[in-house]
Amino acid sequence: MAQTTQPPLTDPQAAAACAACGGSILFLVIAALALIALNIVLLVWVARDAKNRGMDNSVLWMVLVMVTGVLGLVIYLFSRPSGNVVKCGSCPNKRLQASAKCPHCGNA
Ligand SMILES: [Zn+2]
Repeated sequence: MAQTTQPPLTDPQAAAACAACGGSILFLVIAALALIALNIVLLVWVARDAKNRGMDNSVLWMVLVMVTGVLGLVIYLFSRPSGNVVKCGSCPNKRLQASAKCPHCGNA
């Protein structure tokens, strides 16, 4: 009975290695998709929040956050008009509580 010091890769080992490899790729794909989805949610939130606060350049803010990421988000959070965002009484959108008129429907 001959014994080898270096046994060749058996099938279960190969299968396990392949599964681990495929699993990590799948994880990377899911992580990338989650990151993209999170980015889209963030961009939509910035655009909506800027519009709710009566900022005319909400699209510009969205582009800034898209290009610069977290840095742009921090800049936006510091430069946006502060105050409570409440539901408008005349339309289903939200508006700044302190604003003179709703940026969506124009009602006081
Ligand atoms: Zn309104």
